[in-house]
Amino acid sequence: MTRFFDTKIEFLKGMGPQRAALINKELNIFTYGELLQHYPFRYEDRTHFFKIKDLHEDLEHVQIIAKIRSVETIGDGRRKRLVAHVFDDTGEMELTWFKGIQWVQKRLVAGALFVFFGKPAKYGRKFSMAHPEMDVLTQAQEERSSFQPVYSTTEKLRARFLDSKGISRIMEGLVSVAFPHIQETLPAPILQRFNLIPKRDAMKQIHFPDNPDILNRARYRLKFEEFFFVQLRLLMLKLTRIEKSMGQVLNQTELLVKFYNDYIPFELTEAQKRVIKESFADMKSGKQMNRLIQGDVGSGKTMVAFICILIAISSGAQSCLMAPTEILANQHYEGLKEYADMMGLNIALLTGSTKKSARKVIHEMLRSGDLHIIIGTHALLEDIVQFKNLGLAIVDEQHRFGVAQRAKLWAKNEQYLPHVLVMTATPIPRTLAMTLYGDLDISVIDELPAGRKPIQTVHRYDKDRLKVFGFIRKQILEGRQVYIVYPLIQESETLDLKNLMDGYESICRAFPEYPISIVHGDMKAADKDYEMQRFVKGETKIMVATTVIEVGVNVPNASVMVIENAERFGLSQLHQLRGRVGRGAEQSYCVLMSKYELSKDSRVRLDTMVRTNNGFEIADVDLNLRGPGDLMGTQQSGVADLLIADLSKDAQILTMARDAAQDLIQADPNLSLPENELVLRQIKAQKQHEMNWSRIS
Ligand code: ADP
Ligand code: MG
Repeated sequence: MTRFFDTKIEFLKGMGPQRAALINKELNIFTYGELLQHYPFRYEDRTHFFKIKDLHEDLEHVQIIAKIRSVETIGDGRRKRLVAHVFDDTGEMELTWFKGIQWVQKRLVAGALFVFFGKPAKYGRKFSMAHPEMDVLTQAQEERSSFQPVYSTTEKLRARFLDSKGISRIMEGLVSVAFPHIQETLPAPILQRFNLIPKRDAMKQIHFPDNPDILNRARYRLKFEEFFFVQLRLLMLKLTRIEKSMGQVLNQTELLVKFYNDYIPFELTEAQKRVIKESFADMKSGKQMNRLIQGDVGSGKTMVAFICILIAISSGAQSCLMAPTEILANQHYEGLKEYADMMGLNIALLTGSTKKSARKVIHEMLRSGDLHIIIGTHALLEDIVQFKNLGLAIVDEQHRFGVAQRAKLWAKNEQYLPHVLVMTATPIPRTLAMTLYGDLDISVIDELPAGRKPIQTVHRYDKDRLKVFGFIRKQILEGRQVYIVYPLIQESETLDLKNLMDGYESICRAFPEYPISIVHGDMKAADKDYEMQRFVKGETKIMVATTVIEVGVNVPNASVMVIENAERFGLSQLHQLRGRVGRGAEQSYCVLMSKYELSKDSRVRLDTMVRTNNGFEIADVDLNLRGPGDLMGTQQSGVADLLIADLSKDAQILTMARDAAQDLIQADPNLSLPENELVLRQIKAQKQHEMNWSRIS
């Protein structure tokens, strides 16, 4: 966009400095360009007038034409309200106002025809509307009836007559002066290929649509554009990263071959092999690897990590693996130590509970290079942790770590950035992954090891508890172990803990014959670990726990996961928890316990869990329920700034925009072709805009 769009809104006709200042403050809008992008959030159908007898309660906002019969004020003080009795040729209804009574009263002239616009509700036998919009009916209005934009606004703005209508009036002026200045931002071939309407038309129609069809096309065009530029910038970032960041060449496979021939306990899945190949290609490329491995719970990410570690060590570099909790770090350590010992490699564990003396030894061994592999928690990020030559940094369950923490890992090596592998078991839909991690390469382990039986999931109500206990007993008699998990939500930690302890006691009463473990967040790390170990070794048959066991824990003999108050968990959490079972050869089960009364969303969540084991499918449902705003990472990715496009609803448009951006970058990486000048200009303008903002805020 050109200079014109940087014009301050106070210069807009009919605006004035005071109202402009208020808009600056309330809506964070300063320029013509920004105001023009204050898109309506919905549209009201003013093409149709309802008769009073046709009203029903399921209607959204509607308009009626009616006359005033009488007006009265009822009650006093804070409960005072104004009631107007109105009628048309089919019936009568009431309109009520609780605020601005005097102002409304003056305008309600008996006998005149009014248009009222509001949401009908039924009280007793009569319909009423609270705080309807009102207008004296004019000829013009009957004719100009259309789809009217609704703009978000605030109380303060409304008080200065900048309600949705007021904004719409200003917008009308703005659109007409701005129209000739609006320039196309997308190259003609893209417009053609995706059948997009010109920018100028889109901007006009989004504010003042001629009809629903053209409105849809305008929205489509603007969403496409928004996604297109986000994608383009991510792809360009990735290109620069790949160009700039040298990586140590890790291309030796001696240990890998030895492990593969002599020690590996199972055949790798095709998906594991593919992901290993993709990672190896990065590691030997001379460029820094930045790869995200997405793999559903139980897909065998750890083995992929270990094999990459073997490549690093064969090539003379050290590796680290960072996990988000001590339990998980421990478990990784135990698992990998077994393999490392077979291979004669040195491995150590570094967490918050590592003793000072042991720490010192570890620090020294890392610096001298004697320690090949270090597993740990955040403790690895401390400055004192220095390597002789860190070649590969692996981060497990990445959603617990921030981007900044990852960056800290990168800084651990002097000459080269270490190669980075991020592993996550939170499958996110492809569309979202493309956007959130557009600057990372993504590998997907989309296959579970052979012979896994799909976990059977059922939903049971609290009244079925005895039957559930019976089932648990049967499983234990067959030699299995059982998890029983309680929610822990921060706001009510004490309550949850009580819930957990009550549950624990009742389980102890129900199963006096079995030893039972309990693990929760309030326990000391050492105690947690002790209890965990008892369960891992099979000494205890039931593990009662909060979500601390959510991530990563691996006890193949555990075949039943009971989740209490399942309605209180999010979908991805339920899926993570369920993933703790189904790791051995036996048939596994997940029992979702809930109360009888459930909200609609809770029911969808539980039904989804019962219906499918597929993490990606679950992630899709989750995205639809929650919207992307809640998902991790959206804040840093620029996705949060989307004005009109919606990641959860517009996945298809995103995919197309992504393709378009990819094709364009491939054909013209520097955007130097004349036909891409528009695009380059737009990208530069966006960058400029952001710089301005970062100076202000
Ligand atoms: P996740 O991807 O959830 O981290 P893990 O790496 O913990 O999964 O692997 C889950 C279990 O599956 C482990 O017991 C692991 O040893 C086993 N496993 C991994 N890969 C295979 C395979 N290809 N064949 C059989 N079992 C495997
Ligand atoms: Mg894991």
